Amino acid sequence: MELTLTRAQELKPHPKDDELAFGTVFTDHMFNMDYSPEKGWHTPRIEPYGPFELSPASMVLHYGQAVFEGLKAYRTASGGVQLYRPKKNLARLNESCRRLCIPEFNEEDLLDGLKQLVSLDQAWVPSTHGTSLYIRPFVIATDPYVGLRSSHTYRLAIILSPVGAYYPEGFNPVKIWVTRKYVRAVRGGVGHVKTAGNYAASLYATEEAHKEGYTQVLWLDGVEQKYVEEVGSMNIFFVINNELVTPALNGSILPGVTRDSVIEVARSWDMPVAERKISIDEVFEAQKSGALSEVFGSGTAAVISPVGMIKCDDLEVTIGDGSAGPMSKKFFDTLTGIQYGDAPAPDGWIE
Ligand code: PMP
Repeated sequence: MELTLTRAQELKPHPKDDELAFGTVFTDHMFNMDYSPEKGWHTPRIEPYGPFELSPASMVLHYGQAVFEGLKAYRTASGGVQLYRPKKNLARLNESCRRLCIPEFNEEDLLDGLKQLVSLDQAWVPSTHGTSLYIRPFVIATDPYVGLRSSHTYRLAIILSPVGAYYPEGFNPVKIWVTRKYVRAVRGGVGHVKTAGNYAASLYATEEAHKEGYTQVLWLDGVEQKYVEEVGSMNIFFVINNELVTPALNGSILPGVTRDSVIEVARSWDMPVAERKISIDEVFEAQKSGALSEVFGSGTAAVISPVGMIKCDDLEVTIGDGSAGPMSKKFFDTLTGIQYGDAPAPDGWIE
């Protein structure tokens, strides 16, 4: 992609690897590109990281026409920097654009722009194992108009943030809380794409879970509130009688890149995998009979997040012995091995 580069005049100090949190520090540069009906997506550029000038009437501020992605670049043992399945994220961003009536962009061109940005700021990629550079592409509606329709103009931007290890204190399981009162997404809605409003809508239930002493909400389907969908902002997996079971993509579940990776890795081990409906009742019955050995979430931030306890209505159960199970650990080690370049990757996973 031909883009203009304006270098930052002053470079910021880099935080130490052991001081990194999540999403609080941003690198020296960002990528920007604009859309207008006359020019299409135009003027791709890398510029110093800095604030946008936005009209208070910008449509994104009123009607939430906003989509985003989250992916990571990793520092390898040989000192290189690599991206994990970025094409999948850009394809999903375009899917989100389509659903939110935002014009699609050229994925190859954007990947090229993203690579140029990461390459320019590569010194920001931390090197301690478990750390990475989080990449946040997003698109917002910019028409200064307070009537309801889809915007005619947009900004697409990419920002970068070095992030700390997700498990500085070990691979510890979380406690999750099933809500029947709130739903995350409904069939025919926008749960299968990454639009900002989904996350705003999830906050209330998450705060309630925290008040009850749980880390994440386990979301049930929005129709019958019977079938498991996702956990927090992760996909969910169960190991039942040594089979890996995950809810089938039904239109209200986000098709996670990590979810897809877990499934592909499991199949490469000849582990049986079922993508199907799974009710919360079935989960509790499988726990009771001893058939359920592990539960874990999957997502870019944590990769794998083992679940130690589930609370639903008045019932709270422990999964296995409450510690991280062997399959959760095996998926975590395998995927992080690929991400950091310590293990060979399936074709097309690393760029
Ligand atoms: N579900 C939701 C709602 C999410 O926000 C995410 C994070 N993108 C995921 C699942 C996991 O997706 P991925 O593996 O692509 O990070």
